[in-house]
Amino acid sequence: MKYLILSDLHANQEALEAVLDDARGKYESIVCLGDLVDYGAEPNEIVEWTKRHVSAIIRGNHDKICVMDEPIENYHPAARASAEWTRKTLSAESRAYLENLPRGPLRIENFDIVHGSPTDEDEYLFVPSDATLTLDAISAPVTFFGHTHVQGGFLVTRSGSKMIAARGTLEIEPDHFYLLNPGSVGQPRDGDPRAAYAIYSPGERLIEYRRAGYDIAGAAGKILRAGLPESLAARLFNGT
Ligand code: ZN
Repeated sequence: MKYLILSDLHANQEALEAVLDDARGKYESIVCLGDLVDYGAEPNEIVEWTKRHVSAIIRGNHDKICVMDEPIENYHPAARASAEWTRKTLSAESRAYLENLPRGPLRIENFDIVHGSPTDEDEYLFVPSDATLTLDAISAPVTFFGHTHVQGGFLVTRSGSKMIAARGTLEIEPDHFYLLNPGSVGQPRDGDPRAAYAIYSPGERLIEYRRAGYDIAGAAGKILRAGLPESLAARLFNGT
């Protein structure tokens, strides 16, 4: 089985469509690491598509926040405005779907998926030392994570972990542990504004990191017309 690995779609329909075009014919099953909504202008459309096409999914922190009733006063103003807008824009059906998303880790075939880290769905894995600290919680040779919106990941060993550059195809070596990030479909933050994703073939032990250019102006225009913060539109052009 070949998997299309998606994370952090963030209600960006243009980016998702570009990824699906680019990935056509390369996979048999779609897996999602959470954060379907928030920041972008089309949360219901992304949830609808996910319901129909994704075969395995866990929740992200934004999926959780956007269906809670708790106050979010301590948030950065743009993040708060976006979460409030998403809360009022989600349909009853979308809300029900998001509320029922499972928390990771979730085992699929012989790999795991998590949103933040193997120990905590809200934790960020930015540097190799962050990855090393999760080693005791890793239970599969390959674990996919998202949340940082940075494509790449780590080769994890007890004596220290190594950063993996998101370049082309990575061969999975036996007897190693990998934490791999497909990058963000809808709001990349690694300096490359193109939508990020990965194709995983467990049988061939190969991960392919891919990017797809998309209609950023289209997605940004919808953000502005929805009355969402301007910074959320601007950052899409820079990939930050
Ligand atoms: Zn996210």
